[in-house]
Amino acid sequence: MKLGVLKEQEFKRVAIVPETIPKFQALGLELVIESDAGLQAMHNNDAYTQQGATIASRKEVLEQSDILLSIAPPSDEELKSVKKEVILLSQFEPYNDKEVTAKLQKMGLRAFSFDMIPRTTLAQAMDVLSSMASIAGYKAVLEAAHHLPRYFPMLITAAGSVRPATVLVLGAGVAGLQSIATAKRLGAMVEAFDTRAAAKEEVKSLGGKFIEVEGAKDDTSAGGYAVEQDEDFLRRQREEVQKRAMKADVIITTAQVRGRKAPVLVPKTTVDQMKPGSVIVDLAASTGGNCELSENNKVIKHNEVTIIGNSFLADGMPQDASLLYSNNVINFMKTWVKEGALDLDMENEIIASALFTAEKEEESS
Ligand code: NAD
Repeated sequence: MKLGVLKEQEFKRVAIVPETIPKFQALGLELVIESDAGLQAMHNNDAYTQQGATIASRKEVLEQSDILLSIAPPSDEELKSVKKEVILLSQFEPYNDKEVTAKLQKMGLRAFSFDMIPRTTLAQAMDVLSSMASIAGYKAVLEAAHHLPRYFPMLITAAGSVRPATVLVLGAGVAGLQSIATAKRLGAMVEAFDTRAAAKEEVKSLGGKFIEVEGAKDDTSAGGYAVEQDEDFLRRQREEVQKRAMKADVIITTAQVRGRKAPVLVPKTTVDQMKPGSVIVDLAASTGGNCELSENNKVIKHNEVTIIGNSFLADGMPQDASLLYSNNVINFMKTWVKEGALDLDMENEIIASALFTAEKEEESS
């Protein structure tokens, strides 16, 4: 059975790095890698062939693969040339793209979506959302430090003393917690807020100060994800954020509500009152942004405040991001590939959730 890996069109990352190839071969798979797929993650074609993979054109990978792997899904046009019985493995985000499930079902294609893997302890080693969010949280702090006209740590020097920077993190999920840890390591004072009650202890354990806003809806049946808050709560939260934002040097926002537009936590009126030179990094930019002024994939200035809108900061560290991605892929594939053949146990919660095309078929029958 052939596992094909496509070169990403918009990312520097690659879904499989050469060093993990033996683990895929141990499952009985033959690997076909699109030419130059790993180049921007520092892996040339030779590195893949040395591990026993074959290099092919994009057309060949599309046409020959029994399992077709990519980070972003192939285009509709490209899907016309894949094998009818192929298994697609990518991030389809069916909770955001409401058409994709029906579209793939109509084409008769089976597809796994990494973002549909449940966020359970058992699935942790397969969770690409977590591994990429963790890198994004780290990188967000470095980006902020790069743009900030100040130090992060407190310094006492012969030339005078420097106050530590204050970092405000909104949304303390995987990315937010990594931002808190990284900002603390650089010596900043860190404050954070999240609507999930469980986040409070996590923030405190990393040395951050948790901001209290009473009355958040926290639904444990939402699979660990946050639920949408009512307008009264969001207004009180914005007031609290505004007070902190005026004193902050850096705001990192990561607040997302799965399948919905990101909540606006930093309106223009707040940015207007921030200190000159301060920096906002908005990791929710691709789903509308937590800052009202964010522009997706752009760095802009409002007065003297820098606003970085980027939800794919993991792509700024393609080498390690690709290694972790590969490890997530192999851990996931071990659950449904045995001795070179498919073994799709639909009783397995991870498989049943991720194979989103099949799940929908069952529901509608
Ligand atoms: P996410 O990217 O969906 O959202 C980021 C954070 O924003 C979340 O912590 C969310 O609560 C918060 N948020 C949403 N609305 C907000 C608002 N109005 N104000 C402030 N914060 C707001 O989250 P994620 O990082 O993908 O994590 C989702 C959940 O999955 C978390 O509970 C996390 O602990 C859990 N998780 C579990 C595992 C596992 O056990 N395998 C792995 C990873 C994540």
